[in-house]
Amino acid sequence: MSEEMIPVTLDDKMTFECSPGVSCFNECCRDLNQFLTPYDILRLKENLGITSDLFLKKYTSVHVGPESGLPVISFKLDPATRHACPFVRETGCSVYVDRPTSCRIYPLARAISRARDTGEIQEYFALIEEPHCKGFGRNSGQTIREWLDGQDVTLHNAMNDKLMELISLKNQILPGRLDPVDSDKFYLACYDMDTFRKRIFEGDLLDGLDVPPAVLARIKADDLALLDFGLAWVKYALFGIDMALGE
Ligand code: SF4
Ligand code: SF4
Repeated sequence: MSEEMIPVTLDDKMTFECSPGVSCFNECCRDLNQFLTPYDILRLKENLGITSDLFLKKYTSVHVGPESGLPVISFKLDPATRHACPFVRETGCSVYVDRPTSCRIYPLARAISRARDTGEIQEYFALIEEPHCKGFGRNSGQTIREWLDGQDVTLHNAMNDKLMELISLKNQILPGRLDPVDSDKFYLACYDMDTFRKRIFEGDLLDGLDVPPAVLARIKADDLALLDFGLAWVKYALFGIDMALGE
């Protein structure tokens, strides 16, 4: 499929509109080349009321990057449905309020760079014009910034940027293919958070770490706190970076 990437700024006008009345309704939910982030998985498994391991088994495929050794998660697509997303229905997305980041911002793409000295993040955006998408050319009357505000992506972006930081650290500290043990740790803490929790509370995963009881109580009760902890734990377990374990 040919596509055109058009760089845009947050103050540019959004020349795009989508609604259930468009002739291409749901076409963007087929033939996906879409990676799921840890926070995407947290929201989807909570939406479905299932554990992360069941969600991963039932709805996703895992690929391991041949050069990085990092696990990458994508939706399991069924050729019998023209590779449709498992959550698309005739009426639209069945997990709409918890849809993944890339679905929220489509047809925008977001990339970031991080200043090495200050850690400050710079965002870049581009419109992805694909032939199947007929929403282009209509002026929604909004700027890119206003349109993005309506997609509720602030927390998604903040959590996804933490994943990007992990990947960037991996490339700096452990270039080349990650060994399978470290790859499994990355998968466990980033994607299979309910099993990660089980290994913390029923196993010996945190042996040697002095985790305050208040932190343990938070990660036991709250998925977002657990994911945040897991991302920091990967830095500790793979790269030797101390975890900030305040109360
Ligand atoms: S999660 Fe929803 S919006 Fe995203 S591809 Fe699937 S059906 Fe479409
Ligand atoms: S292909 Fe484009 S216009 Fe059509 S439903 Fe998807 S986002 Fe909307």
